[in-house]
Amino acid sequence: MKENYFKKYPNKDGFFNEYGGAFIPPNLEEEMKKINDAYFAISKSHKFISELRDIRKYYQGRPTPVYHCQRLSEKYGGQIYLKREDLNHTGAHKLNHCMGEALLAKHLGKKKLIAETGAGQHGVALATAAAYFGLECEIHMGEVDIKKEYPNVLRMKVLGATVIPVTHGLKTLKEAVDSAFEAYLKDPISTIYCIGSVVGPHPFPMIVRDFQRVIGIEAREQFLDMTGELPDSVVACIGGGSNAMGIFSSFLEDDETQLFGIEPAGKSFKTGEHAATMTLGKPGLIHGFKCYILQDENGEPAPVHSIASGLDYPGVGPEHSMLKDMNKVTYDSITDKECIDAFYELSRLEGIIPALESAHAVAYAMKLAQKFPEKSVLVNLSGRGDKDLDYVVDTFGLPE
Ligand SMILES: *Cc1c(COP(=O)(O)O)cnc(C)c1O
Repeated sequence: MKENYFKKYPNKDGFFNEYGGAFIPPNLEEEMKKINDAYFAISKSHKFISELRDIRKYYQGRPTPVYHCQRLSEKYGGQIYLKREDLNHTGAHKLNHCMGEALLAKHLGKKKLIAETGAGQHGVALATAAAYFGLECEIHMGEVDIKKEYPNVLRMKVLGATVIPVTHGLKTLKEAVDSAFEAYLKDPISTIYCIGSVVGPHPFPMIVRDFQRVIGIEAREQFLDMTGELPDSVVACIGGGSNAMGIFSSFLEDDETQLFGIEPAGKSFKTGEHAATMTLGKPGLIHGFKCYILQDENGEPAPVHSIASGLDYPGVGPEHSMLKDMNKVTYDSITDKECIDAFYELSRLEGIIPALESAHAVAYAMKLAQKFPEKSVLVNLSGRGDKDLDYVVDTFGLPE
């Protein structure tokens, strides 16, 4: 049953029903096809699978645990559990697909990994993977983000990556994507583009999802072992949607488990300071694929806001767009303020400082627990919050 879903979606042209596909220049089309064919040939081989399994275990520190939050559950009701992706090497789920992408690159004989980064999390994960495999790494980053996220710029440089400042337009994530694609197009033979989430043209949303499935496969078994049951609900935050696809993928066929994807409601829906793509977006094209998009009055991707830089993207993965239309996943949102409250609650009740992205999912789980005190909820804690400490304390201060 389950494997049927993965065979059916995406279809051979990369569509999740009407979403996804590859709307790209012809020279790129050929490269994407090559990556797709190579992915199918290599990733199913025994050698690739056993290499990746060893990397997961001995380098990344997997499986990451599932943890029952006793004090948080006592205070808010319900039974709240966390899948601890914050304990994955480099402190977030992103390394799951970066190690997979880099291993694929090595098998393809590529010399260099190219990517964009917004807050720097994807750049750091990819630079880590490049160091592991002895590959070159080039990260494109908007000048504005370089200033804002300087500790991550230093991490990338220490790991041996080249950071290319992007100086045109708004000098943030969207321009960084354009710049990284351009660099990739100049030398598609010896380089490979490694995207940061379940977005972009086919085959990226499929490849990234497949590498992130390890979260759901582990979590389902661990939860069953711990409780003898499946969770009543599973909650994950959504930027592009890779950590959410990773955990949801193991529960899509379980009618007793409800899935919740949580977007940033930001400061306010009225002023447009949010990134609630599923709640307020419309289908359209962005970065070579079709999905729900927050659009301005001219149909262009709208400027978005979230306190969590990993979530402020005006598009979303094509698979999530499909799952929304199918009503398989409920998409809802959490405000900046609710996110900060959850950030401190989890820190002070459990001794776990969550990434601001992940705190959106924690905040929603706290609400669910209050509403349904008899039910269990499994949160994908996508990353740790060390990167956010300065910002949170400077901006919001410490609670009493
Ligand atoms: C990048 C990031 C996200 C958002 O990415 P998705 O593809 O939506 O999972 C969420 N949490 C953390 C910790 C991140 O670094």
